[in-house]
Amino acid sequence: MKILRINVGAEGGPKASEGPMGAYEGLGGRALTSALVSKEVPPLCHPLGADNKLVIAPGLLSGTIAAASGRVSVGCKSPLTGGVKEANSGGQPSQMLARLGYGAIVLEGKPKEEKIYKVFINKDGVKITPDNSLKSLGNYDVAEKMKKEYGEKISCISIGQAGEMKMSAASIAFTDMELRPTRHAGRGGVGAVMGAKGVKVIVLDDAGMGMRAPKDPQKFAEANKKFVEGLKKHPVTGEGLPAYGTNVLTNVINEAGAYPTKNFMWGRFPNCQKISGETQAQTETARGGLATHGCHRGCTIQCSGTYMDKDGHYLTKQPEYETVWALGGNCEIDDLDAIAMLDRLCDDYGLDTIEMGAAIGVAMEAGLAKFGDSQAAINLLKEVGKGTPMGRILGNGAAITGKVLGVERVPVVKGQALPAYDPRGIQGIGVTYATSTQGADHTAGYAVATNIMKVGGFVDPLKPEGQVELSRNLQIATAAIDSTGMCLFIAFAIMDQPDTFQALLDMLNAFYGLTLNADGVTELGKSILKNERAFNIQAGLTAQHDRLPEFFKKELLPPHNLTFQVTDQDLDKVFNW
Ligand code: SF4
Repeated sequence: MKILRINVGAEGGPKASEGPMGAYEGLGGRALTSALVSKEVPPLCHPLGADNKLVIAPGLLSGTIAAASGRVSVGCKSPLTGGVKEANSGGQPSQMLARLGYGAIVLEGKPKEEKIYKVFINKDGVKITPDNSLKSLGNYDVAEKMKKEYGEKISCISIGQAGEMKMSAASIAFTDMELRPTRHAGRGGVGAVMGAKGVKVIVLDDAGMGMRAPKDPQKFAEANKKFVEGLKKHPVTGEGLPAYGTNVLTNVINEAGAYPTKNFMWGRFPNCQKISGETQAQTETARGGLATHGCHRGCTIQCSGTYMDKDGHYLTKQPEYETVWALGGNCEIDDLDAIAMLDRLCDDYGLDTIEMGAAIGVAMEAGLAKFGDSQAAINLLKEVGKGTPMGRILGNGAAITGKVLGVERVPVVKGQALPAYDPRGIQGIGVTYATSTQGADHTAGYAVATNIMKVGGFVDPLKPEGQVELSRNLQIATAAIDSTGMCLFIAFAIMDQPDTFQALLDMLNAFYGLTLNADGVTELGKSILKNERAFNIQAGLTAQHDRLPEFFKKELLPPHNLTFQVTDQDLDKVFNW
């Protein structure tokens, strides 16, 4: 594997150079992005300036036959949090990048000219061309244009208008199996950093490149078989996610009283049935869409789908639980078609759906629109795409929106919006939100699994006891999984089934000729978090940033009528291992 560096600030225009993995040998995904950002990015640099770097790294098992191994990590200093960022995405590019032999692409420097660049990579090398015809296009148009230019067998990594405008909620789109820009490295404003580098799209063509070969092919194939069997036999990865997608959680979290409704005022949404995963799957199949679909080839869980409009035309991919919540229940919107339209717009403009749902919720609390008014939400989002002054405020996230509109109840940690689980109803996830190196992020340590679904044991979601240990262990394990290229959803099966966890270790060992055991995985996770914490501290983030907003400690959340109970002293113990 090699690293491709593109210096966008080189004399005469961007220059590509390739080199060995060097200090990053043996790393992949988040381990690589966070190591590179920690080592090469000055923590106090401006996130949109020449010194920040955008790192795109496939996981350790990406590009192989391993199931669900096509996740990619995007790292940089975040324009949203001011700290380190790793945003994770599915889609086809991770597999292609790895098969082309790249451990990472690094965009560095600052363009000298006002031009927009496209990068084409295939087995013969890298070609960088200015192409101002791509300016101000949405991700869907970019993918269509690239398809016409390079054929159907490519994949794309692109930004929409939000990235070009360098908004802090801008995402980076990764195309799916149908070459649609539906998978996003959503969080932390990574799209703004790509926009600041002047790169609109990276096109990958892996024709002529085979699967990556393991050191021990037979052991690798056997371990993968066991791993797939494990995923298929677990009720979450074998039944719930394939049948209803992640939105199966709407009813579950609502029932638990932790479904943040109306900008985190209530823990239950009376109309949640109308936007549940069950209703969504039924709507999708009735209209000729798919309720079970993968975001990349080789995923056996297939938690996604395709959502058609009322006339049976493709509108968007199946909106995920967090999207349905952010743009639905959080804004008291109970119309699946409107939520699907909002999802489509976010994918096209290149925006994080969680951040946008939170920003619109805050705007609704300020009285800019009425809660429940789906057309008003669509109009607000269109302002973001157009880059009007209001749109630019919303597109810079919930924290900025709250400040500009004078709202006190703003659900963010380190400037990043809280996802779809109220920390008063699921206390463990509150610890992760508060202390994660990433800002509020459910995927950084998904305590919901143990608090609510009783996966990997049980810790009472309504009590503070045991939450710090739970979140700590999950944050360590997650950092390691994010490095393998494996989808985080495999965690349900590996937490409950020791033989499935062993199969994952066997795959890594057979591929790289290692003797990794569970302790080794823990050490890898710890080392990643250590790098990220050190970067954040040098970037100026302190213990005071490891806190939830005040209102979670003061306002009781119905129906359990609880505040967030974990003390600040206990939050400060999360990284004491
Ligand atoms: S489980 Fe879902 S998100 Fe994960 S790789 Fe498969 S389709 Fe993509």
